[in-house]
Amino acid sequence: MKNSNILKNIDLFLLDLDGTVYLGKRVFEGAREFIKLLKENQKDFLFLTNNSSKSSEEYYSKLLNMGFEITKENVFTSGQAMGIYIKTIHKKEKPPRVYVVGTSSLKRELKSMGIFVVDSPNYNIDYLVVGFDISLTYKKLLDACELIRRGVPFLATNPDLVCPLDGGRYIPDCGSICIMLENATKKKPVFVGKPSSIMVDIISNLKKVEKSRIAMIGDRLYTDIKMAKDSGMVAVLVLSGETRMEDVEVSPLKPNLIYGSIKDMYEELKLVFGG
Ligand SMILES: [Mg+2]
Repeated sequence: MKNSNILKNIDLFLLDLDGTVYLGKRVFEGAREFIKLLKENQKDFLFLTNNSSKSSEEYYSKLLNMGFEITKENVFTSGQAMGIYIKTIHKKEKPPRVYVVGTSSLKRELKSMGIFVVDSPNYNIDYLVVGFDISLTYKKLLDACELIRRGVPFLATNPDLVCPLDGGRYIPDCGSICIMLENATKKKPVFVGKPSSIMVDIISNLKKVEKSRIAMIGDRLYTDIKMAKDSGMVAVLVLSGETRMEDVEVSPLKPNLIYGSIKDMYEELKLVFGG
């Protein structure tokens, strides 16, 4: 199918952040214009991040400060997906009670969604939630192991092993914390963030848009593109982040569309909407 025919049928655009619309503090050329173009053409969009160390409110402010004309509803994090997922699977009458291995931002996010967050494992805990915890302590790992041993469901926000920083540096992310817990307990978590189908189902329901009419734009093959391909969304790879063309050639994951950057996609989309 021609690119223009694929793009014409998209009602909801999901945009990854790091490596797709910005890198660190540097906003990519064409990114703000891309959002403007979507708005002018009444297309819905979500900035989608697996990073659960910050709340959706914090991401919203960050994007506003970067000059993106958006509302709070245009941001969706793996922390929010976790909150919705817990409320979906929770069948008891009392509100869900969770123990969080995560930042105060993640706890705040979950609390704002009506979830009861406790700081001690000495309660009846319904769910253990592990996030990208940059305030991790050994005490929290002990508590998590104890809860898993007791049979409390082990949920995690995102499987990313590392989070990239400026200058090629990186720090351990939620996936790495989970591998430690997995080795200690022999139990695997349920991940709700990219590339999980849980994230896609939540968004598709929330926005009332069929998956075939959603495009996922991102720079990582094994999260952004994998999620799109697994769930029947349109997979759009941008080469402005982690992935090189050589990586695509040897990968079993084939994106539907590939652009050098968000700017290149913007240029094509402008023609599609204009014509
Ligand atoms: Mg990325």
